[in-house]
Amino acid sequence: MTEAEIKWENFPVDVGLVYEGERIRGKQMQVELGGPKVGDKFELVQARKMNEVQDGKITIIGPDLKDMEEGKSYPVGIIVEVAGKQVERDLESVFERRIHEFSNFIEGMMHLNQRYDIWMRLSKASYKKGFNTLKWWGEGLIHLYKSEFEKVIEKIQVTIITDPSKIKPEFDKAMKVYKTRDERARSITDDDVNEFYGCVLCSSFAPSHVCTITPGRIALCGSISWFDARAAAKVDPKGPNFLIEKGECLDDIKGEWSGINEAAKKKSLGEVERVHLHTILSPYNHTSCGCFEAIAFYIPEVDGVGIVDRNFKGAAVNGLPFSTMANSTGGGKQIEGFVGIGVEYMRSPKFFQADGGWNRVVWMPSHIKDRVKDDIPADVVDKIATEADTTDLDSLKDFLKSKNHPVVKGWVEEEEEEEEEEVVTPTMVPTGVQMPMGVPMAPAATGGWKIILKGARITAEELIIKRIEPKKKKKK
Ligand code: SF4
Repeated sequence: MTEAEIKWENFPVDVGLVYEGERIRGKQMQVELGGPKVGDKFELVQARKMNEVQDGKITIIGPDLKDMEEGKSYPVGIIVEVAGKQVERDLESVFERRIHEFSNFIEGMMHLNQRYDIWMRLSKASYKKGFNTLKWWGEGLIHLYKSEFEKVIEKIQVTIITDPSKIKPEFDKAMKVYKTRDERARSITDDDVNEFYGCVLCSSFAPSHVCTITPGRIALCGSISWFDARAAAKVDPKGPNFLIEKGECLDDIKGEWSGINEAAKKKSLGEVERVHLHTILSPYNHTSCGCFEAIAFYIPEVDGVGIVDRNFKGAAVNGLPFSTMANSTGGGKQIEGFVGIGVEYMRSPKFFQADGGWNRVVWMPSHIKDRVKDDIPADVVDKIATEADTTDLDSLKDFLKSKNHPVVKGWVEEEEEEEEEEVVTPTMVPTGVQMPMGVPMAPAATGGWKIILKGARITAEELIIKRIEPKKKKKK
């Protein structure tokens, strides 16, 4: 394809909703752009003045798809610049989030995550069909942006960078932009506004997932704040962002509002009936799709909350890597004890306030702790362990005890309760209960045993109920 032939009419592969959610496995991929093996990667949309954008221009800086080795991973940065009378700064992150959706519309292209965390794959099949230059990615995005926002985006240009030495300075600039956006979002609280916003952009991956975005709870992908969602709902009322009337406050601490419940029920087609925004210890906690920046997970052994983000390599303190926990957290379910969050939510004054906020957090990766350190209360910051302090639950317990972490007080109370119960309540062993090997069995008449499972979470993949037919007596 020559430069002049890179036109929408010649697009080499299909584009449409049907390809959203398409997974490109390692063996199917031509190349990977960004992802966990690559350091600097980002996507950024910038609002510009009309005279600063050359409509339709696509620039590639660095190796193109043809120059990349099959099956390998490469760094990538994409800057989309838009202009128009209605284009405003608040729309930048909303447009930026659509890179995810629009890229996934392209046959054979998979796009995951957002901002500085993007992970893309192109399939061998699409490459063979002629998708052999990144210019097609730019062309596809330009076409989709203009179709979706035809009244807003008047001019658009795309720059794609794959040269590692050129990405770094642009990556640093992008990080500053994200920081400024997040700081602005911190200027208001849930109590300052009369309405919240929702997002269902990820419903193609997780049909029952509905993001509720409030000033105190940024979207779990970390890329859409209350300001962004408000701007998006205004310019694109039929789009994925929508207004949620607050309604009646049903629980101020857990963050339950009648308006959020109604919106979640409607948008999840009845799957989700209630939402508690600010707790992970509730059967009604916020749903998670798959785009969360981090996972908060309950650790019953210490009655505390751990946090792990997708850039953390290896197993978290509970022995599970991010990917394993992501499988049980995502998919639009409400899982008590697991919830996906945006890193920025950790700075919120409402951060898991129903569970004790920072006083309940016991472990997190050091790079995330460093990022949010200024927002962790001074009296608890040194009591939260990282991978440098502990890597398993036993040493976590020792660490928390030695630091007198607030959760330790709960252990002491619990131990005292247990002792009392042991003295006062002898219980008969039910017929048929097998005690573990080596546990001496006291005669029932002299007290017996009581088994208490505290903080246990028992889950089953499926429940099979089978009728057991009585054995037929053998004929004599
Ligand atoms: S994670 Fe939530 S806010 Fe972010 S794009 Fe998906 S649905 Fe929208």
